[in-house]
Amino acid sequence: MTYSKLRYIAICSLLVLCSQSCKDNEELTPTELTFVENFYTNATDLDIIVAYETGAEPYISYNGKSAWEVAEDNINELFDGRNISLTIPKELDQMTNLGRLEQNNYTRENIIDYSTELQKYSNKDGQKGITLLFLDGYYIKDGQANKNILGLNINNTSILVIFKPVVESAANSDAEKALVEQSTIVHEIGHAIGLVNNGVQATTAHHDEANGAHCTNTKCVMYWKNGSGDIAQFIAPFLTGGKISLFGDACIADIKSK
Ligand SMILES: [Zn+2]
Ligand SMILES: [Zn+2]
Repeated sequence: MTYSKLRYIAICSLLVLCSQSCKDNEELTPTELTFVENFYTNATDLDIIVAYETGAEPYISYNGKSAWEVAEDNINELFDGRNISLTIPKELDQMTNLGRLEQNNYTRENIIDYSTELQKYSNKDGQKGITLLFLDGYYIKDGQANKNILGLNINNTSILVIFKPVVESAANSDAEKALVEQSTIVHEIGHAIGLVNNGVQATTAHHDEANGAHCTNTKCVMYWKNGSGDIAQFIAPFLTGGKISLFGDACIADIKSK
């Protein structure tokens, strides 16, 4: 397959709880292939624009700590040495409440429609925006609501989604669920900004090609099972406190070298 053909085939980055395939190949039009390409040419600011459906509110804190600092710290770690100012909301009043939406479950087209309304930036100049939707329903994949998909990044776009009922079923305590949610957010932002081999070239051999745009390091947030069946296990060590470093060295090195 030629490079150009590869570029036009989306490897949709789906997080699944079970051991099913984590890849979803869908054709995209060339205009949708611009986010990660433009990002590294001129990014100065990145705004994470968050909206939630009533009933799918993100966790704001866990064990007395700010939940969204997990995403903030980990994305800032990727941007270390690069002048990109990250803005990430930490309280519900900094996010958009969408009320109750009409559908119970969502297709790719539904998600693109909601996200397009939410997006504030063209993403052509230095100011970039990633949209992140929290939906109280499941992803409709192949015509069926899939109860195992935690979140997704519509590939090569700035569109991210979290399917809240799947987060709720992935762990037991609220603290665990909050970290499952943050870990999923970090994983999906990781895809949106090019990991692994998803717009940013892998600089070492850590691309788990068989499982899509994922990392072979079992201790990295981009390892495919750390975004799926093994997520509760992956976040467990971070519940006791201390620094929450979700990315492995290889993924950090890829972004650094871009
Ligand atoms: Zn993934
Ligand atoms: Zn990694």
